[in-house]
Amino acid sequence: MSEMSEASKYWLEGFLIGNQPSPPTDEDGMPDFESKAYDLWQDEMELFTETGFWTYEDRFCDQCDLELLKSNPTETCVSCFNK
Ligand SMILES: [Zn+2]
Repeated sequence: MSEMSEASKYWLEGFLIGNQPSPPTDEDGMPDFESKAYDLWQDEMELFTETGFWTYEDRFCDQCDLELLKSNPTETCVSCFNK
């Protein structure tokens, strides 16, 4: 998809954002913007806009055992992947 038009690029971004999983919430059902879970969710969302991938499975890096972001389509965490 290297020859993508501006319009379809924005459509795709909107599509991905529209499909992003909800942020983690506290017991009142509100996002807890100060929580570590929310920080992690933001990282996952940033990667999701690049990969369009999401899984609800808990997966771990096959090299360092770090928990993988839910939007990471590979078996390797970002820091091992960039080594
Ligand atoms: Zn790793």
